[in-house]
This record gives sequence, structure tokens and C-alpha cells, in this order.
Amino acid sequence: MTQRITVLGATGSIGQQTLDVVARHPDRYEIFALTASSRWERLAEQCLATGARFAALTDEQAAEKLWNHLRAAGSETEVLAGHDALSFLAAHEQADTVVAAIVGAAGVRPTLAAVKAAKRVLLANKEALVVTGALFMDAVHESGATLLPLDSEHNAIFQCLPPEGVNAGVEQLLLTASGGPFREFTSAQLEQVTPAQAVKHPNWDMGPKISVDSATLMNKGLEFIEACWLFDVAPSQIDVVVHPQSVVHSMVAYRDGSVLAQMGTPDMRTPIACGLSWPERVESGAQRLDFSQLAGLNFERPDTSRFPCLALARAAMETGGTATAVLNAANEEAVAAFLAGKLDFMGIPAVVEQTLAKQHAPQCVDVDAVMDIDRQARNLACRLIKERGC
Ligand code: NAD
Ligand code: MG
Repeated sequence: MTQRITVLGATGSIGQQTLDVVARHPDRYEIFALTASSRWERLAEQCLATGARFAALTDEQAAEKLWNHLRAAGSETEVLAGHDALSFLAAHEQADTVVAAIVGAAGVRPTLAAVKAAKRVLLANKEALVVTGALFMDAVHESGATLLPLDSEHNAIFQCLPPEGVNAGVEQLLLTASGGPFREFTSAQLEQVTPAQAVKHPNWDMGPKISVDSATLMNKGLEFIEACWLFDVAPSQIDVVVHPQSVVHSMVAYRDGSVLAQMGTPDMRTPIACGLSWPERVESGAQRLDFSQLAGLNFERPDTSRFPCLALARAAMETGGTATAVLNAANEEAVAAFLAGKLDFMGIPAVVEQTLAKQHAPQCVDVDAVMDIDRQARNLACRLIKERGC
């Protein structure tokens, strides 16, 4: 039996790398559905290459263009439009596995739909978990969904943990961080960085939002929160270690002094292949690690005075309630403003910090209430961005 796969966010960096791994194993995997926001030309190519049964775009006009293009090409892929179509496909009874690779809180509802439908969910969309936290994990436990992390650090920890989980002698989770493109920049240099510099990551080829998050270290902050929820550990049990070579993808330290690390070249196809095939292993296409070519592996403490986002994320997790949803919403707005040239680089942590200070962040019992806080935090962050100007 082949595994039928839905890819949410198929046209993005993770989506495309997922299709690359899937194409290597036509005997094991088939594409059931592909979704994206508006890039219909890329989605059309993907539908024709994979023979997907369904495609969906949130942008209705783009969906119409996709439909016309596919019909003219003789494709039988059914085309759906609108945000609800994503949740419909994520929960579709004929799909076995859902790769959650939408960027940002836009992925919350479709990812949760997959979880509630008890799918095998491969999670790249860390923001969905950061925003909904306990509600997300409760839904996993209630439905019996299988949740497998694709984020390279969390996939590494998942591989290094004992089958019994963190209570079987684990002392600490060690999240590695590359430090991003500005690791050695002074505070004065950080004031001047441009969007073009920020989206050029030294080790990984990623979408623009996560690239900026890596440059501010907010990505590590979001991953810190993600790790607390995924592995059910307290913030005090996680440490962040800067490791510029991105060879060690993360580590688990045990009570007896042992530290297990997962290593590999920085290529997301390795965790994607791991998630698709677990507990088996399949070829990913990733280049192999050549130890004879490694000049050295370095580790250092993160500097939270130059990169305050990491400390802001840790504090939001410790605060609880919807503070992490507020953090994420403010960060999404600040990053979008930075990429649009409307906010300076150091404005990102400043806007996040001010939004967290001013926005009420109560505990919420359902996703609608969380998304209402998300909307309020975005409005507040947008006002703060306008006041700061560029
Ligand atoms: P990307 O920007 O390259 O792609 C994002 C995808 O989401 C696209 O297919 C886009 O069409 C879709 N999308 C965007 N906004 C949407 C909306 N409002 N509604 C529906 N779909 C929408 O992003 P990426 O780099 O592939 O990252 C995706 C997720 O994976 C992020 O949460 C990121 O943090 C995480 N992640 C990425 C990497 C990486 O190497 N790229 C590594 C680890 C984790
Ligand atoms: Mg990561």
C-alpha cells in the first residue's frame, strides 16, 4: 500500500523538498493533494508532475487560473479555492499523511484539521504549535494522530530520545542554532542590515520569513517553544547552543552524562525523509557528511543582548496563556514590515517586546479565542510599526 500524502504549502521551500523526496520513492508514496496561497504556475507544474488528485489555492483568482491551465493541459486534478479548502483536504479521509509546511499562523486551522482527523502529521509549520500550544497537543492526544517533527532540530531530538520519552533518564534537550548570517555583527552593524542580507542564510536555503527569523534568532525562540510542547519539557530543561557549522542538528543529554547528537549535512530532505518513512529509513538525496572534510565543530553561548528575540520567546513561554501567540503575531507583522522596507532590523525585537508588554494574553479554551488574540496583537504591532517608521 502506498502512503497518500497531502502537502500544505507545497510551493514553498519545505513543500518542494518534500516533493523531491517523494519522487524518489514512487513505490512508497503518492501525492493526494497540494495546496498553496497564490503561486498557481508553480502549483500547476507540481500537479502535472505528481498527478495530484486535488489542488487548492487560498487566492480564488489564482485558483481559477490554475483550473484553466490544468484543463488545457488535460490534467484531471480537481481544483479548490479558499482557506476552508485547505482544512477540507488536510482532513480528507483518503489522505494518510499531511505535511504541514505553510508558513506562519495561517497554518493553524489546516494543521489542526489534520491533527483532529488523526492523520500522520509531519510538522514543519512551527508557528501553528507556538500559537495554539496546549490546544494543539490536546488535539493530538485526543485524536491519536501521529505527530512527527520536520524542523531539523526537533527531528534530531526525536531521533535521539529513548522510545519511552523524556522521563527515561533525560536531563536536558540541547537545541543547536547556526547563529544566522549576523552572528559576528556588532550592535551598530545590526542597526544597518538590509532585507537582502537577512534572507541569505549561510547554511540553509529557506523561505524569506524563516530566514529573517534565523537572522534575529527568533527562529530559535520559536523552536524553543516548539520543543517545550512537542517533548513535554519545562523551559528549564532546554538549552540553546550556537553551532555555526550546522552539522550537529541538536542533542539530548542524559542523567548519566551521555550526550546523543544527530548529525548530517544541512539539508531538510533528511528530516523530511525521516518523517515520511519513520520507523523505517529511505534515501533522501542529501549529500553525505564527510568527516575528513570537516574543519572543526564549534559551540558557543547565544548572545541575547545583541539578539533579544531568543530571550523574549523564552519569557513568553514562561508567562504562559496566549503570550506565545502574541509573540508570534507581533513577530510575523514585524518581519513582513522589515521585508517591505518599513521597519529596521532592530525594530523587530523592539516591536515584539512592546506588543508583549501591552497586549492582554489570557489563557484561551478554543482556537477561535486564540485567533482573536492573534488579530488584536497584529493590530497593536502594526500601530507600533507605524509609530517607529523607517
Ligand atoms: P516558504 O515561504 O518557502 O513557503 C510557504 C508555503 O506556505 C508556500 O507554499 C505558500 O504558498 C504557503 N502559504 C503562505 N501563506 C499562506 C497562507 N496565508 N495560506 C495558505 N498557504 C500559505 O516557507 P518555508 O521556508 O517552506 O517554511 C514553511 C514552514 O516550515 C515555516 O513554518 C518554517 O518555519 C518551517 N521550516 C522551514 C525550514 C526550511 O528549511 N525552509 C526548516 C524548518 C522549518
Ligand atoms: Mg529549525
